[in-house]
This record gives sequence, structure tokens and C-alpha cells, in this order.
Amino acid sequence: MKIINSQNLPEPYVLAAVPYEPTREGRIRVTELSMPPQLRYLSRKHWDEMEEDVIDRVYAINSTSTHQILASVHEELKDRHEVFLAECALKMPVLGWDLTGHLDVYIDGILTDYKDTSIWKVKAIKIKMDEGWEKQQNVYAAMLRETMGIEPLELQVVVNARDWRKGEKLRYGADYPPRISVHPIKMMPHNEIMDWIKERVALHQKGNKGEYKGCTDEERWKREDKYAVMKKGRKTALRVLDSYENAVDWMIEDGVDMEECFEVDVDGKYRQCNKKGKDYLYIALREGEDVRCTGYCNAAPFCDQFKATQRNERPI
Ligand code: SF4
Repeated sequence: MKIINSQNLPEPYVLAAVPYEPTREGRIRVTELSMPPQLRYLSRKHWDEMEEDVIDRVYAINSTSTHQILASVHEELKDRHEVFLAECALKMPVLGWDLTGHLDVYIDGILTDYKDTSIWKVKAIKIKMDEGWEKQQNVYAAMLRETMGIEPLELQVVVNARDWRKGEKLRYGADYPPRISVHPIKMMPHNEIMDWIKERVALHQKGNKGEYKGCTDEERWKREDKYAVMKKGRKTALRVLDSYENAVDWMIEDGVDMEECFEVDVDGKYRQCNKKGKDYLYIALREGEDVRCTGYCNAAPFCDQFKATQRNERPI
């Protein structure tokens, strides 16, 4: 992996931006289990050609420093608790491979993982826990049972909202999440999580031989097209809907007389609709995209599936 420094950040950042090494043959990391097999295969194959910008590693650097600070108090905690594990390396054989990972901290029955994320995500996980986080903690719980005979009682994530703002807290009060929050993770039955681990390892073993399917919509973090009903002179949408037809229906319900509509295509991007003289509404297309491919996948330059979508072809 080549590290580039497009923003000319100071040298310590460049040195700290050391990427992970590709996993050795016959091994897989806990964090790779949920990864699309195509992405893992391409990353390993093109590791030496892939590039990563220091600026894109800053979140990872910050997260590492949080872990290091917390690790510095672990020694003290060790003396106060009966069962205490921190930054503990685990290795479990699965279908002839070694599954490896480091759990963050385990204290008296509670397995904790520290996460750095956005305030947007903290709001989202209050409604529905992130499936990847849920699986990851359950995998560590399974590894503790299988390799150390430890039965965790509770799983949780401690989340730091890195873009938390005091001004927003004062403005929104209880509706705005705290800077640091603790979220329980649902414990999966042991056989269920073990089945999932084996299923994922088997997929990656096939992927290692170049036998994989393309990344799914979910794996590409596909964002569908959206249709925003806009009002002239206003920056934010009145309503955002999933289809053009739904947007038109909403405008009709809002009192737009479609008979009197004057519809115009502007670069194929939107049509506008006369409401009352100059106070018109129009529909703006917010184009969807494969968010992971366009912004978060270092294997994209080597991925035929991504290249095909760039040419507006459908992947086979
Ligand atoms: S670029 Fe997209 S489709 Fe290709 S490996 Fe990455 S995530 Fe998957």
C-alpha cells in the first residue's frame, strides 16, 4: 500500500498513517469477516499498487490514539477487577484457517468495544444497532468462549461522537446525543454466531481463489436516487421522496394543479411545476451512488464491477 500525502500534512501524521498489512495466507481478521469477498480478494491481490491518502487515515490515527490512552489506564484497572482483559489478542481455528482479532476490554463479564463515529451514526444506532458492530462483538464473545472458556454476560460499545458540538447540545437538548454514550449489544446464541463465522470464512476461502460474486447493493452502500420537492427561493427540500411519481403525487396533495403545470427538463436533472404564479415548486433529482465504491474502497481502481457502473453499464 502506497501512502500519499495530497494535503502535505506534517511528517508525524505521515509516519502514523501506517496501513494494516494484508492478512497472511490462511488467516482472516475479525474485521474482515463482514467485508465483501471481492473487496478482500482485490485488496490482497493489488496491495502493492493501492494508494491511501494520509488525510483519509486521520480518523484511524485518532481512533488508535484513543485506544492507546485507554490502554494506559488498563494496568491500574487490572488490580481492581477479578477478570480483566485489555487489548487481548485472540486466535481461533475455523475451517482450517486462523481467525484473529484484538478485543478492546473485558471486565467482570462485560465485553466492551470502543468506537469513534459521527453524531449522525450515534442517532442511527439509537434506533437500530449497526449490524457490523453487533456481529463483531458477538464474534469476540464466541472466541472468548471457544479459546478461553470465558462466558461473557453482557456486550456493549462505548461510542465517541467525533463531530459532537456543544452549541448543538444547547440548541437541541435531550434530542442531541451525549459526546460519549454506551450502547448494549444483543447477545447471539453461540451456535448461531459460530454458523455465521463459518459461513463467512467459507465465502472468503472461495474468494481467495478468485471465486466470488460481485458486491451486493448493501455491500456497496448503495444510495438510491431521491426526488426532492423544492420551492423556488428555498434551499432545503419541502419533501424528499423515492420516486418521481411519488413526488408529483405529493405536489398534487399540496395543491399544485398539474393541468397548469409547466414542465421543463433541465439537463435531464429536474422538472419544474408552476404553482401560484412565481411561487413555483419543482422536483430536483438527487442522484444515488455506490457510496463505498466512490469514496471508501481502495480496491476501486482495480474493480471491474465499479468500472462498469462508471460507464453506466449494468454489472453482470
Ligand atoms: S469498488 Fe465497490 S464493487 Fe468494487 S470491490 Fe470496492 S465496494 Fe466492491
